[in-house]
Amino acid sequence: MGRGTTGDDAIKQMAQLLRSGATMLSQTCPVHGVPLFKLKTGDIICPVCRKRVVFVREGEEAKAMGIIALSELEKTVYEKIRFLTGLISSEEDPDRMYEPLRLIIACLEVLEKLKRLGTGA
Ligand SMILES: [Zn+2]
Repeated sequence: MGRGTTGDDAIKQMAQLLRSGATMLSQTCPVHGVPLFKLKTGDIICPVCRKRVVFVREGEEAKAMGIIALSELEKTVYEKIRFLTGLISSEEDPDRMYEPLRLIIACLEVLEKLKRLGTGA
């Protein structure tokens, strides 16, 4: 996707950064996947964005925490679905199956949203 400007431009920019005394970091730009550079001024920039990426550390930590929270939620939702399925299978009255079924649908919606969040990153 996007225009193929990531190649030559980025390499040129990286060379220029190195020449200006910037150091290449082991972290990569989350958008472009290219190494980030630390300037003499202490600023961290992506050679493709050419923007300061101050969020490198904090942002990644926050993202990791978010992923942990989401996978916790996913686990819980699966447990609830199992619980609700148990309720339905032991229920003889169709009228009383409605509520647990409704909740399962709500759970599935949550899973669907989680899946979308997972691939969106
Ligand atoms: Zn970038």
